[in-house]
Amino acid sequence: MKIHVLTLFPGMFDSFLSHSIVKRAVEKKRADIRIHDLRRFTHDRRKTCDDRPFGGGPGMVLKPEPIFEAAEKLFGSVRKSKKRPFIYLTPQGVPFNQKKAEELSKYKELVFLCGHYEGVDQRVLDKLVTDEISLGDYVLTGGELPAMVVIDSVVRLVKGVLGREESKLFESFTGNLLEYPQYTRPAVYRGLEVPPVLLSGNHKAIERWRKEEAVKRTGERRPDLLKENQTCIG
Ligand code: SAM
Repeated sequence: MKIHVLTLFPGMFDSFLSHSIVKRAVEKKRADIRIHDLRRFTHDRRKTCDDRPFGGGPGMVLKPEPIFEAAEKLFGSVRKSKKRPFIYLTPQGVPFNQKKAEELSKYKELVFLCGHYEGVDQRVLDKLVTDEISLGDYVLTGGELPAMVVIDSVVRLVKGVLGREESKLFESFTGNLLEYPQYTRPAVYRGLEVPPVLLSGNHKAIERWRKEEAVKRTGERRPDLLKENQTCIG
């Protein structure tokens, strides 16, 4: 999968790209993540990417020219493509979830546009953007952190990225349930015991316990998920 990020702050991605699963995905050539500095697509000496909003008001708005030029140079066209989602991270977008991560993980190429200041000129959204995604009902300073969140959740779903393919089958939100409680060694710590069934070696009983715990936990924490089409993990 090839991922393009258009940003005013490329340095924010340095640490993200050099750790954990994302780093491994890049090393294994499962993901090719290219961070593009929008200032590279400007022509003035100051590399201006923002300007005051028409009609007045506070803040600055990202100008259309560098973003259109980036699209033209990188993809050879400013036309929307069904094969290449062009995603704008915005608090005004559709709330992000695991289903969307799974959908995006099927594409060979994705583009992420990180806004800043008051946001992006509407003409960019009208002409280039195919998806507007929000991380939640709060306002962040820029789209870089949301882009990293979405990229992380998508890349780990790409085939061959996670060590054990099954590990993602049993996760929260896969099948509308939260994951069951997890325990590791030691079996007793400060008098706190691991549920005996997990030490029993009885795989059927363990599976049953995990399903029950997942349903119980989801009912307690996210009853809204159970009301949706209920399915079981595993
Ligand atoms: N003026 C905008 C509004 O009221 O909708 C908010 C702009 S925000 C300060 C700057 C940028 O941060 C946005 O253009 C967007 O890229 C990003 N951003 C902020 N909050 C976000 C969220 N909840 N989800 C995704 N992106 C967000």
